[in-house]
Amino acid sequence: MSFTKPPEQLRTFAGIACVAAVLLAFDVAFSAMAPARISFPLDEQAPGEFPAEWIHGSKSAMDNTDPPVQVHAYNEHTYILRENKAINYEGAFMYLFFGNGVAMLIDQGSTSSPALFPLREVVDGVIDEWQERNGQHDIELIVANSHLHGDHYAAWNQFVDRPNTVMVGLTHEEVMNFWGIDNYPQQIVTYDLGGRELVVTGSPGHQGSEIAIYDGWTDLLYTGDMFYRGRLYLEDWDAWVTSIRKLRDIADQNPVVHLVNNHIEMTTTPGLDYPVGTTWQPDEPPMEMTLEMLDEAVEATFEIDRPGIYIYDDFLIYNEIPWGYTTDP
Ligand SMILES: [Zn+2]
Repeated sequence: MSFTKPPEQLRTFAGIACVAAVLLAFDVAFSAMAPARISFPLDEQAPGEFPAEWIHGSKSAMDNTDPPVQVHAYNEHTYILRENKAINYEGAFMYLFFGNGVAMLIDQGSTSSPALFPLREVVDGVIDEWQERNGQHDIELIVANSHLHGDHYAAWNQFVDRPNTVMVGLTHEEVMNFWGIDNYPQQIVTYDLGGRELVVTGSPGHQGSEIAIYDGWTDLLYTGDMFYRGRLYLEDWDAWVTSIRKLRDIADQNPVVHLVNNHIEMTTTPGLDYPVGTTWQPDEPPMEMTLEMLDEAVEATFEIDRPGIYIYDDFLIYNEIPWGYTTDP
C-alpha cells in the first residue's frame, strides 16, 4: 500500500548518504596524505648556497679517500654534483633539478664504470631522499646533457635500463627534439619541469649542440662548457660570439644571480690556470661566476679577431687552436 513506499525511499536515501559520507571521508583522508604541489614562483629568487670550497682532489690521486661523487644541495630542489678529480681530472660538475613528479639530471661525468663512478646509485639516493622529504613517489628522471662531449656523458649508460626514465639522447636531433628547439641555435624555448620553468637556448661555440639554461626559480644561468673558469676551447669563434652576447641579453632580461657551469681549471691567481690533467687543485676559485665576468667575455668578443690564446683574469680563450680540442674529448 501507500505507506510501504516511504520507508523504502528512506532506506535508499540513507544508503546514498552513507556512500557519500564514506567517499567524503576517503577524500579528506587522501587529500591529507597527498603531497602539496611545490610551487616555483618566478618573482622570488629562491636562495641557495655553494660550498665554501668544492672537493678538489688530493696530492696523491692513488690515496684519495673522497667520495666518487660530491653531492651538494644548492637548495632543497637543486643539487650540484661533482666527479672526484682522482677518478677523472676533469672534475666535471653535473646538475640535478627537481620539479613536481620529475627530476632532471644534466650531464653524467667523465667515467663510465659504475664500480669507479657509481653515478646512478648516487642520483637514485638523492631522488629517494627528495621523494621522502616531499611526499612524492615514482617520479620520472630525465637524463639530459649540456653538450655532446664524452667527458660529460660517460656514465649515460648507467641509466639506460633505469625504470621511469627518459633518455634524451646523444645526437643533435634527439636533443633538440626533446627541448622543442627547431631553429637551433637562435630559438629560445620554455620548458616546464613539473611546474619549474626553464628557459633553454642554443649556445654553440665550444660544441655545436650545446645548450644554456636559465632557471627562473633560482635565477641561476647554466652555461655548461661554453663559459666557465678555465680554458674555453672554441671550435667556432663566430658561434661563440653570438652565444655569449645572447646570454648577456638573457641576463639583461632576467634577474640572474650566478652563472654556473661544468669545470674549474683556473687558480685563484688571475689569468693563471692549472695544467691540463691536474688532479689536485688546492687554490681553485669558486665554480660560480658573476655577471661582471660575462661582461668581460662580451668585451672579448669585440677585441679578438683571430685564432690564438687570450688570457683574461677569470678564463682563458683558446680560439680555434686545433690541438686545443684534443684535451676535451
Ligand atoms: Zn666539452
